[in-house]
Amino acid sequence: MKKLVVANWKMKLGPSKALEVSLKLRDASAGAGLGCEVVIAPDFVSLSEVGATLKGSSFALGAQDCFWEHEGAFTGEVSPDHLKELGCTYCIVGHSERREHVGETDLMIHRKVSALLSIGLIPIVCVGENFEERQQGQKEYVILRQVTKALEGIELKSTDKVVIAYEPVWVIGSGQAIDPEEAEHTHKAILQAVINLFDTEVARTQFRIVYGGSVDKDTIQGFLKQPSIAGVLVGSASIDPDHLMSLIHRASSL
Ligand code: PEP
Repeated sequence: MKKLVVANWKMKLGPSKALEVSLKLRDASAGAGLGCEVVIAPDFVSLSEVGATLKGSSFALGAQDCFWEHEGAFTGEVSPDHLKELGCTYCIVGHSERREHVGETDLMIHRKVSALLSIGLIPIVCVGENFEERQQGQKEYVILRQVTKALEGIELKSTDKVVIAYEPVWVIGSGQAIDPEEAEHTHKAILQAVINLFDTEVARTQFRIVYGGSVDKDTIQGFLKQPSIAGVLVGSASIDPDHLMSLIHRASSL
């Protein structure tokens, strides 16, 4: 299966910059296609133009968040249906920056996952321990709780797909990724949690588990060579189109 690269542009590129970067990506990939699956996740206000620019290219469009209701009086929120209308096929939920700064809870994340799956969008569910939890030896407990709360009780259709992103919170944006071997170990624990919730076949065919946290062009292959790591979620190193194209080439050459 092709590796997955998710580019999370966070709140770092406004509409004009995002358009400029997506034009460069479109030109850099023209004709050749991509040897891996790539999702570009700009902020909400750039989605429309980035989506229009990348339409017909090999890049998929993703959002960085959504609301759990489909429509109604929810001022300031964004419906998953409206994201779908713009061409999104993926949506990140439960990113640690939202858990930390906006107080997003496991229950909210569960409801978002459910809303996305109900209309055929692929949730990218972020889980990961913070430094304190790690120091206290609670890493696995925290991650397995987040995975379970996000997914338990959800009835998956055979066509549904889910991505889980393991992102140790304390390395996000730090420039210092964890060892690929440690990520592999954690991915195996997450896979087992998914098997416990669904079954082995569903876990292996409908789920992908990716690593996120200070991945760059020098470290990407170390992660992608691990058997349980299906891809990477990249923040800072995905903002520069040349660096992102290097990541894509390295992910494609494995
Ligand atoms: C992220 O935004 O989820 C992320 C992994 O960021 P960075 O690559 O900058 O650590």
